[in-house]
Amino acid sequence: MKKELQYIFGPVNSSRIGKSLGIDVIPKKICSLDCIYCEVGITRNLSTQIKPYFKAEAILAEFSSVYHEIKDSIDVVTITGSGEPTLNSCLKDVLIGIRDIVKGEKEIAILTNTTTLDNKDVYKTLLDFDIVVPSLDAVTKTAFEKINKPAKEISINNIINCLIAFSNEYTGKLYLEVLLAKNINDLPEDINTLISVLKKINYTRLDIGTIIRPPSHSFAVSLTNKELEEVKSYIASQGVSFSKDKSVDDNLNNNTIINYSSSSSVVQGKNVAIEKLIPILKMRPTTLEDIIKTLKIDPVIADEILTPLLQSGEIISKEFNGVLYYQHKIIKQL
Ligand code: SF4
Repeated sequence: MKKELQYIFGPVNSSRIGKSLGIDVIPKKICSLDCIYCEVGITRNLSTQIKPYFKAEAILAEFSSVYHEIKDSIDVVTITGSGEPTLNSCLKDVLIGIRDIVKGEKEIAILTNTTTLDNKDVYKTLLDFDIVVPSLDAVTKTAFEKINKPAKEISINNIINCLIAFSNEYTGKLYLEVLLAKNINDLPEDINTLISVLKKINYTRLDIGTIIRPPSHSFAVSLTNKELEEVKSYIASQGVSFSKDKSVDDNLNNNTIINYSSSSSVVQGKNVAIEKLIPILKMRPTTLEDIIKTLKIDPVIADEILTPLLQSGEIISKEFNGVLYYQHKIIKQL
């Protein structure tokens, strides 16, 4: 990309929805939840207030300026971002504008934490997306409060009822996500109550994963692969289906940012690489391997780029589960 973009990021190679161009429609980090595993950092403004945080015109102007350059490199346009996207009251206008620009060439997806589904406007707008990816990590008040740390006015029972109703009315692809943290929402009573709710949700696909990047709260611990597989096997043994859509790869939680540039642009100056790297590291902690793949640079150049950024304090490195990640200083963790 020729300049640092404010709303558009990626593309990201998502195992769930394919090659996705992200649109961030909410300022960092305004959210109705403060999930302990959040990759974007701690929630600075815990709020359920729906208002025009970013104007649709500004988002669409930026999207329009990059879409035609990269459209052949993506499968889907995804509204997501640095907080809960449905808190932006301009969401419907953004969706209509994107549809106008992509002219049916791409599916349009949204990631949501489902806390605003009781708002009629949000509910109706979400019905118009091709793909909705809601998250539901816990269904008991205790576990919900422990893992998602919601704004005080949010009721988990309300979320569950709205999500069930939405899933039965929605005709697009509903990819439900559950994230488990060790000893937080993976206890037998949590899983059993979750199963009873999952059976009532009419999803296309169910993804159950655990924490893979440095979390916003340092006490959040991921399940081991073995523990995760055991939980998934148990859930399946209780009659819960994971996928009714076999067209999607079954790998979980493996998002990689990809470069949409043509091979002719592989050779690039360090300044250009830094311009591309900074927005990526503002979005989420990223490994050296992903940085090298994304920027199409060799490890020596990567080191030459990262070292001064680390020394100046603009970025920091952090180890999680034995893997080293780099992230921008604006991602705040506890
Ligand atoms: S994971 Fe999503 S819903 Fe949870 S705090 Fe982060 S941005 Fe909000």
